[in-house]
Amino acid sequence: MSHLAENLARIEERIERACRTAGRLRSDVELMAVSKTFPAEDILAAEALGITLFGENRVQEWSQKVTSLSPKHESTKHHLIGHLQSNKAARAVELFDGIDSLDSLKLAERLNDAAAKLGKRLPVLIEVKLSTEETKAGLDPDAVDTAQLLERLPDLSNLETHGLMTIAPWGAPDDETRACFRALHELRDKWAAAHPRLNIQTLSMGMSGDFELAIAEGATRIRVGTALFGKRTPEALRAAAEMEQG
Ligand SMILES: *Cc1c(COP(=O)(O)O)cnc(C)c1O
Repeated sequence: MSHLAENLARIEERIERACRTAGRLRSDVELMAVSKTFPAEDILAAEALGITLFGENRVQEWSQKVTSLSPKHESTKHHLIGHLQSNKAARAVELFDGIDSLDSLKLAERLNDAAAKLGKRLPVLIEVKLSTEETKAGLDPDAVDTAQLLERLPDLSNLETHGLMTIAPWGAPDDETRACFRALHELRDKWAAAHPRLNIQTLSMGMSGDFELAIAEGATRIRVGTALFGKRTPEALRAAAEMEQG
């Protein structure tokens, strides 16, 4: 078995165990492979093992990688999970099958315009910031801009809002991480009730180190990088950051 296949088997065991413990079906939890900083060959190898959903966090990095993947398999989807500046919205709509890091009304309008120009309907997730960490991306759930975004989204007809995404505080104790996931679930229920025109089902939460907690709290999509592809090297992270600036 390849290294990747072994890692995937271990992840599968963990997902199945977490689903069993939570009394949930395995089929209710989608595995997104986070391929940022890893080469196109690794994406192809993961695809060969049956993975059909990938996450990347930078537009520029992905625009280079995607050229080595063409023609892309129709059934494989690549989503952006990192912060998107609105001046890169049009490029992102061209390159990605979904944007899981929608974090402002302005960005939503840019994405909708770009998707309309391409005749595309773009799946999006609203990224919510539930941790007090300064560095974390996402919308403040109580901000005025957030309320406006929720009101406006159903009318942005080239966007399909599927749900919410969050990143738990880094290195926090389990109870705090779990509280963050629970808060996203509660927010989804609250917003779904208050905005019946929005169809928000997806809860994207949980990464390599904490996805069992996320599954326990109702995650429908987990985002796994390190546990599948291995550790991201500091060199690869730096190269990706520099590419984005240039
Ligand atoms: C990198 C990243 C992940 C994957 O993290 P791992 O700990 O490597 O599994 C998940 N979500 C987002 C938004 C990321 O940027």
